Parts: sequence; structure tokens; C-alpha cells
Amino acid sequence: MVWKLVDNIWEELYQYLIDDNFILVTDENVYNIYKEEVENLLKGREEIHIIPSGETSKNLKELSNIYTLLIQRNIDREGRILCLGGGVVGDLAGFAAATYKRGIEYIQIPTTLLSQVDSSIGGKTGIDFSGHKNIIGSFHFPLITLICTSFIHTLPEKEIACGLGEIIKYGLIEDYDFFKYIERNMNKVYSRDMEVLSFIIEKSIKIKLSMVEKDKLDAGIRQNLNFGHTIGHSIESFFGYTKYNHGEAVILGMMYESNIAYERNLIDKEYYNEIIKVLSPLVEQTILSNDEINILLEYMKNDKKNKDGKISFILPIGRGKVNIFYDVEEELIIKAILNNYKKE
Ligand code: ADP
Ligand code: ZN
Repeated sequence: MVWKLVDNIWEELYQYLIDDNFILVTDENVYNIYKEEVENLLKGREEIHIIPSGETSKNLKELSNIYTLLIQRNIDREGRILCLGGGVVGDLAGFAAATYKRGIEYIQIPTTLLSQVDSSIGGKTGIDFSGHKNIIGSFHFPLITLICTSFIHTLPEKEIACGLGEIIKYGLIEDYDFFKYIERNMNKVYSRDMEVLSFIIEKSIKIKLSMVEKDKLDAGIRQNLNFGHTIGHSIESFFGYTKYNHGEAVILGMMYESNIAYERNLIDKEYYNEIIKVLSPLVEQTILSNDEINILLEYMKNDKKNKDGKISFILPIGRGKVNIFYDVEEELIIKAILNNYKKE
């Protein structure tokens, strides 16, 4: 897996344009903000394909539009796709690259904090189908992931919180000092301090990559990356992927799952409070009824990470350490979600 932090992405990208044998996929928001730079780069050529912004674009229709363009433009097996955008563009156009002519090269140019530290690293590509997130997809590693922190200047605050969720997760699962660094520098992330952002992004990528490289097909240690995701995914599904974006749902998931860990005496009160203090200002909680929490439980039972019908949880077991558990009682899950709501 090759990646690189670059200062000037537009200069860097020139070397990746191979004759006319490529297309660039981006989304409406990114295109509107960076239109001039993109057009300068492509010099008025017609390789650019713009998808509507947002998760709903990760569908078969958008995928087929990309295939159509690839065929129209005679992109051959040596061709490539440049994916300029957040996780949506990367997942969708990356999956097109993974499957077109049994796989062509693609380059990730992630423009959101979340995609820079997470989805552009690790080779997962895919689309949503019939209400199921990422249910169709494949592992296909990009030729290179080019990270340019300047993109964060134009990113809305809500999207920063979203990226921060996964970044804090890296600290909690692997590196307590990093967690404390993020805690101390939270304001600088929001003020888009480039030095702090570069450090945090680089560190996050290194943590993720070290886990991905040990476990390319997601069968062992890579599972630790799912901390916050068992409850997080159920919250995303429950709200139909609208109220909370992925990062926000993961933040809530990490809060509730930390509460489970505390209730099971896996972590002490002090550490639990530290986690909640950092996470809770980042996202607004919604009060749910018992019935609604039972629906969350149903979603958790359908999670693809489960084994023998048991819900899997990655839980903190100490500062910067987690482990996998298959034996969390339903009552404890319900209680953990209720506990945190009460904190408001
Ligand atoms: P993800 O959070 O998985 O990366 P998206 O690809 O949906 O998700 O990106 C989140 C939103 O941010 C989208 O509306 C997208 O158009 C917008 N966006 C992406 N990059 C930037 C940027 N650098 N500046 C402003 N908005 C951006
Ligand atoms: Zn995630």
C-alpha cells in the first residue's frame, strides 16, 4: 500500500495523467470548489465525470454511468481512474476500477478528513445495495493514495467531527499517547492548523496500515478497527443514514461501547470519563425509547462481523488497548445506551 503526503496536489497529479487513458471522477461539491484547479489540470479535456454529492450516489446506476464512460472513452487495461473526493467517490470509483476489465489502476485523492485517515487506506471499495451499506464490493488497492491536507480548509465543521471520530478511535485502540495528543490539540484541528493536521493524519494512516498489513483480508487484528462500529452501524441504519454521518455514529458507538467496557470492569472509571469527555462534545445524542433501542439490537444481530449468531464487540481493556468479545449480554448493551443518554 503506497501513500504520500503532498504539499501541492495539483502539481503532483500531472505525472499521473497517462495520455488519454484515464478518467477523473469527483462529486458536485468538490468540483464546484476546485473547478479551476481541476480544469487547469485537465486542460479542457473531457475525462471528468461528476457524481451527485452524498452517500446515495454509491449505487448501481452511478456505477454503471462510470462503466459507460470508461467504455466510451476506450479506457484499456493499462488505463486508470483518478478518484478526487471523499469516501463516496473513492468507494464507488474504486469499485469501478476494481471490476472494469477485471481491474485497472486507480489513484485515491481523498478530500475529506475521514477519507484521508480511513477509507482511502486499506483497499476496500464498494457500493450500497437495497439499504445495505457496502454490501457489494471488493478489495482492490490503489496505485497510490495522495494526501493533501489543504483540502481540509474548505471542509465543513461537521465533516471534521466525522473524521475526528475515526482518528480518536486509532488512539483508543492502539496508542494512548496519540489519544492524549488529539485531546490537547482538538481546537487546532478545528482551526485547521496544518502542522497538527499533518501529524494527526500521518499517525492515523500509520496505525491503520500497520493493522491492515498484518491482516489484509480482514480476518484478525484488523477487527480492532471496528471499535465503535457495532453500535455505530446500528445507529446509522436506524436513522436511515441521514441524521448521523458515519463518523458521528462511530463516536456515539465508541461512547456506548466504552460504557459496556466500564460496566464489565474492563476499564476504570477515570479512563471511561476521559473517553466520554473527549467524545461527547463532538456529536449530539438522540434520546431513544426502549423499543427503539431494541430495534438497534436487531440491527446489531444482523452485523456481518458476528460469529455463530453472537454479536461481536471490540471493547477497550485498558489505555490504548482493545479486545474482541462475543459474550456481551443484551441487557448490558441496552443499559450502556441508556446510561449515556442520562449523562446529558
Ligand atoms: P466521507 O465522509 O466518507 O469522506 P463524502 O464523500 O460523502 O463522505 O464527503 C462528505 C461531504 O463533504 C460531501 O458532501 C462532499 O461533497 C464534501 N466534500 C468532500 N471534500 C470536500 C472538501 N475538501 N471541501 C468541502 N467539501 C468537501
Ligand atoms: Zn468507520
